[in-house]
Amino acid sequence: MVMGTLDKLAILADGAKYDVSCASSGVEKKNKGGIGNSKAFGICHTWSADGRCVSLLKILMTNYCIYNCTYCVNRNQNDIPRASFTPREIADLAIGFYRRNYIEGLFLSSGIEHSPNKTMERIYQVLDILRNEYHFFGYIHVKVIPGADPVLVKKTGLLADRMSVNIEQPSEQSLKLLAPQKSLPAVLAPMNQISDHILQNASERRLYRHAQKNKFVPAGQSTQMIVGASNDSDRVIVKASEALYQRFQLKRVYYSAYIPVNDSPLLPALTTAPPLLREHRLYQADWLMRFYQFQADEIVDERTPFLETDFDPKISWAFRNMHLFPMEINRASYEELLRVPGIGLISAQRIISQRRVAAISYDHLKKIGVSLKRARYFITCQGHYYGAIPVEAGLIRRALAPVQKPVQLTLF
Ligand code: SF4
Repeated sequence: MVMGTLDKLAILADGAKYDVSCASSGVEKKNKGGIGNSKAFGICHTWSADGRCVSLLKILMTNYCIYNCTYCVNRNQNDIPRASFTPREIADLAIGFYRRNYIEGLFLSSGIEHSPNKTMERIYQVLDILRNEYHFFGYIHVKVIPGADPVLVKKTGLLADRMSVNIEQPSEQSLKLLAPQKSLPAVLAPMNQISDHILQNASERRLYRHAQKNKFVPAGQSTQMIVGASNDSDRVIVKASEALYQRFQLKRVYYSAYIPVNDSPLLPALTTAPPLLREHRLYQADWLMRFYQFQADEIVDERTPFLETDFDPKISWAFRNMHLFPMEINRASYEELLRVPGIGLISAQRIISQRRVAAISYDHLKKIGVSLKRARYFITCQGHYYGAIPVEAGLIRRALAPVQKPVQLTLF
């Protein structure tokens, strides 16, 4: 049966919804006579009723796959409707949707059809048509297929804004157990290559004005980890993320709560709810590492390998380090202020700059944007403590405990 474009779209757009690493940011390209623009502040997303991002055309090139990853709906042994787009079909769809103002860019992923090289070559062809034939300057994020020829990865990277190689599992053991056809070195190799090319391209462009016409992956690379398909603790996940940020200068690690789609003794039962609250806490932990100068070991140590669900990771850290509190707002350094629950990046900066003019009072803190509901138990202001209960972890825990237990949300 010959399948129409709409039928393929239904299958392949649905197949892509499990990949969460589609956010875009940090890229600026000028329109040079073609159509579309990527903005430095990122693409504005809109969200469909079921929670999917719809401002990018988020699609799989194919859901055929020669691999059999246990956690994946598209794995080879699943009996599901299958479809493949040709590179021309995807390019035409993207450009048609763009002209109708449905989308601002493209997020293209793929199952592995025939071989990693063949799949990567077809992804490259989509970008070649969009960039060189349609002169499309909009945002394009593509997946890199582990095992593909580095030459293909490089030439695709010169046309894409962002690339991502999905590590999927945070440990080598879990990858071996759940995706035995993949290997950690095969996943890390293209990450390493992309990181090297980004650095090399940036330094060539600094040295020689005409070094490369195109920037290599100007919006950087990202990856995705599935949370809850394996038994890995939050500590394993957070440590893996820290290593990825440090080794490959990733822009983002995305965490995707595992949605039970396959029945296997290696996986949670089909009735298990996706661990969305855990995913949320991991994003908070990730934020602490990227912006608040926390190390993974401080967020989740060996004695507490899982993040608390009742409290965010910053408060949990404070409970374990009560000897550092209360902290005097008028003397603490910027780095120390960042550790206080209720004080964010902006409020810490404001405290530092306003302190240069005059000592800060408790009322001042409210205006600065400090969340006193939390911060008051961890600070003194001009020598006064406003917490009303002793500075003791157990008591503060009780005072800050959520009134209702956090409720697991549904995903779709
Ligand atoms: S390689 Fe990707 S698409 Fe194929 S089964 Fe594994 S996770 Fe799914």
